[in-house]
Amino acid sequence: MQHLLDQMNPQQREGVLQVDGPVLLLAGAGSGKTRVITHRIAYLIQERGVAADSILAVTFTNKAAKEMGERVDKLIGHTSLAKPLIATFHSLCVRILRRDIEAMRVNGIGLTKSFAIYDENDQQAVVKQALKRLGIDDKQLKPRVALGRISWAKNHMIDPQEYFLASANPLEEKIAHIFESYKKELFKNNALDFDDLLLEAVRLLKSSSEVRERYNRRYQYLLIDEYQDTNRPQYELMKLLAGTRGNVCVVGDEDQSIYSWRGADIKNILEFEKDFPETKVIRLEQNYRSTQNILEAAGAVVKNNVQRKGKELFTTREGGSMIGYYEAPDGENEALFIADRIQTYLREAGQKEDAPRCAVLYRTNSQSRLVEEALRRYQIQYHMVGGFSFYERAEVKDLLSYLKLVQNPRDSIALGRVVNSPARGIGKTTMETLERMALSTGLSTWDAIERAIQEQLLPARALTALAGFRRLILDARAMLGSEFAETLAADAAGEEAVDESVEFVGQEENASTEDENVDTSFDTSFNFGFDFGPSEEISTIAAENSVGSDSDVDTSFDAAAFNPFAASTQKHETRVSEIKADVVAKVETSTRVDGFRAPGDPATLPELIKFLNDRSGYIKTLETEGTPEAFSRIENLKELANAAQDAQERGETLATFLDHAALVSDVDQYNADARVTMMTLHAAKGLEFPLVFLCGMEEGLFPHSRTLQDPSGLEEERRLCYVGMTRAMDTLILTRARYRRRYGSDMPEASIASRFLEEVPSRLVEDLGSPSDTRSAWNSGREYGYGGGNKKWGSRRGNDDGYGSEKHYNYEDEDQSAIGPSSSSAAKPKSGLQFGIKANTGA
Ligand code: ATP
Ligand code: MG
Repeated sequence: MQHLLDQMNPQQREGVLQVDGPVLLLAGAGSGKTRVITHRIAYLIQERGVAADSILAVTFTNKAAKEMGERVDKLIGHTSLAKPLIATFHSLCVRILRRDIEAMRVNGIGLTKSFAIYDENDQQAVVKQALKRLGIDDKQLKPRVALGRISWAKNHMIDPQEYFLASANPLEEKIAHIFESYKKELFKNNALDFDDLLLEAVRLLKSSSEVRERYNRRYQYLLIDEYQDTNRPQYELMKLLAGTRGNVCVVGDEDQSIYSWRGADIKNILEFEKDFPETKVIRLEQNYRSTQNILEAAGAVVKNNVQRKGKELFTTREGGSMIGYYEAPDGENEALFIADRIQTYLREAGQKEDAPRCAVLYRTNSQSRLVEEALRRYQIQYHMVGGFSFYERAEVKDLLSYLKLVQNPRDSIALGRVVNSPARGIGKTTMETLERMALSTGLSTWDAIERAIQEQLLPARALTALAGFRRLILDARAMLGSEFAETLAADAAGEEAVDESVEFVGQEENASTEDENVDTSFDTSFNFGFDFGPSEEISTIAAENSVGSDSDVDTSFDAAAFNPFAASTQKHETRVSEIKADVVAKVETSTRVDGFRAPGDPATLPELIKFLNDRSGYIKTLETEGTPEAFSRIENLKELANAAQDAQERGETLATFLDHAALVSDVDQYNADARVTMMTLHAAKGLEFPLVFLCGMEEGLFPHSRTLQDPSGLEEERRLCYVGMTRAMDTLILTRARYRRRYGSDMPEASIASRFLEEVPSRLVEDLGSPSDTRSAWNSGREYGYGGGNKKWGSRRGNDDGYGSEKHYNYEDEDQSAIGPSSSSAAKPKSGLQFGIKANTGA
């Protein structure tokens, strides 16, 4: 084992060897913090004989988790069956909740294991509904703003009631009501958003000692990377998981804290020592990643922050190449310069290194478009992290919504998305009626549909269309076998009831709610004394929702007013067994008819997808459309089926497949094999590349305009700059455009050099041939006119750096075939979207 510790300096070694009790490792970028974590895991397993699966490591992205797993395997020289659990906070919480969430159900009320995970689009849809319900104009209060506040509250563990009590103005009060309505709606839909995953896991571990102790026994050693970016719920989760043993090792860097907007809190570092008094604090000072020039430049920038303890890093990699700077006349030329540099780099480095890698980093996703276009022009393969991801495409989201609905019919958002997609005659009026019905009864939309069919509450045509849709989902559920057929029992009866008007007790979720005088629309921990205040608008809402302010019981599920499922239990039981038999028969018929598999075998994921694609008429509609766009959509649907095939081979179920799709965050699309990676600065955390470009170094862009008036916001931007610069191992190039087109303006506007540029000592900087005579100052652009003939920049520059040949900089002369493979016929590249997607999906 000696070799494992040989590769570490004394402080790092300490971090590895100190396995019992709490350890706090605080150190600058590239000092080997992540390396300490991997080595510590390897050491625990190999030297201390700790069972691998009693180790839990938490990282910031799935990608980082995967890499960490691979490194550990390499270190211990074999892949054992038992493995440490290396996860992100979110995936860890999903895992815990999928297993144990029902421990929080009281009297049959609460979320079930098949809960849906809502992404931002789903969340927006819910907020829009809430706005409508509360009569708030969505121009007056943008759903995104409301959502931002809700998320902020959740990340600070503030619930709607507390939010309301703390609100200082009518706007905040409105948000409190939206928040409350949002929370109810998600509960009703058996859904959680990303923030909820953490909150609910914390609530679960707090409320059930049985569950908590089980996890404490299970995970004896806890490790957390990028600790500076944990927020309150993550901190609480860590504490709950650490248990009384406190074998927890957290590593981080205050200077790289870049998620305060997500509630990351520096207090978590300070409080760690308080909560774990025995904490061993370790500091690392040697940077192994970057050259001295890079390190010095980055250090000079971050030094300007006031809120920092201050620490020095040293490296043995003296000197190194200078920090490159290029000041392009405009954004297009900035991008072309980068592409040109990359081309040269790949050509030259290709002969020396086996895998030259570089990254283009930017502050906001929208900056990627120009860089993408330039890379395509140069026929350079790239990998774009984030932006418009595969899983966000409309057709992919539609199909996923079908799958979500199959998994959890109560998911009203998924239902709303696909109920009439493709068009099947279920119009807006029908849906509005159903939603009103759902609202007034506290039912999910799915249950409202059940009821409408059962009691024939809508015009016949609408009912037929709804019944067809419902049948589609039920048939799909039936394909998944007995587990789904079981819960189907109640559902199937609804259909029977249309013909026979049979009463029954149904829907496991709601079955017992009528009698129990408990909160059915909210999680059980929420003390629902929410006083809506005197405003008339609000009392109407309160009346609509039947919220009694005299007790802490929410009666919004008003059993007296509406009770579609009331019936004697005995009758119910006989009925259910009849229905079960019927369902089994139906499963067999439907499979035989569709011919996918042998009767009795649950369908595979790809089979299920094929079934939905075909039976929903989705593919057919696209085929009929016949446009190239429609065909590319079909391609995407097939690609999703491929993803499902892979998932199937990994042994995933529908639930885990959907979890995966929900958790593929921007950052996780990072592919370490790609030579050129484009991503935001936030996504680059923890990564390293021999060559790094940091583009758009302009005031208002970076630092972002939002932060210019806010000292602590500015400091966070500066930390982000530090993160970006310290990703570079050998070469760092900073670029900016003197003129940039801004949203809403016809003409490009003059920019001012980023203050972060000014903070880099000029002795470390080399101008890479900015096309200007006034190079001494960063802000030479101010004297520079964006006159006529700007597209000819390349020919006018006349510099000798070899980057300005006209061929590259003059669009008109460009050979169009050089543009990405899929758009050779297009006159101008539209966007790198298609190409980017291809890269993402590994094509
Ligand atoms: P960041 O703050 O950016 O997350 P970090 O502190 O986690 O950085 P690592 O990514 O663990 O740093 O290490 C940076 C680089 O230095 C890696 O390539 C790593 O392999 C290398 N490295 C770290 N420690 C040593 C060491 N003792 N000997 C050789 N290489 C090392
Ligand atoms: Mg790291």
